[in-house]
Amino acid sequence: MLDFHREIVYRMECKQCDVSVAASKLLGKMTESDAACPKCGEVMAIDMCHSISGDEAFLDKTFAEIGIPAFDIVSGRCGMKERFYELSGDRAAVLGNIAN
Ligand SMILES: [Zn+2]
Repeated sequence: MLDFHREIVYRMECKQCDVSVAASKLLGKMTESDAACPKCGEVMAIDMCHSISGDEAFLDKTFAEIGIPAFDIVSGRCGMKERFYELSGDRAAVLGNIAN
């Protein structure tokens, strides 16, 4: 499990239109137009998470695409142990284990 220590928006939903849109963006990088419903234009409700367990839909994105800056710190948890990783831009090395 990777913990990003920041909120990643992974889904947006407009309850009025029954529209749901997959997303993969940091909450802090979202603009109002990013969250606008494609049908009615209202701001959609957002679902977010701050960690990944390996089966999320946005794992095919790079950290940069999600909005996580290079050299940001993520941590991996294994039971009570917690390890911190500094992202070096080498996605395969960081995400390799959980991507499989
Ligand atoms: Zn709508």
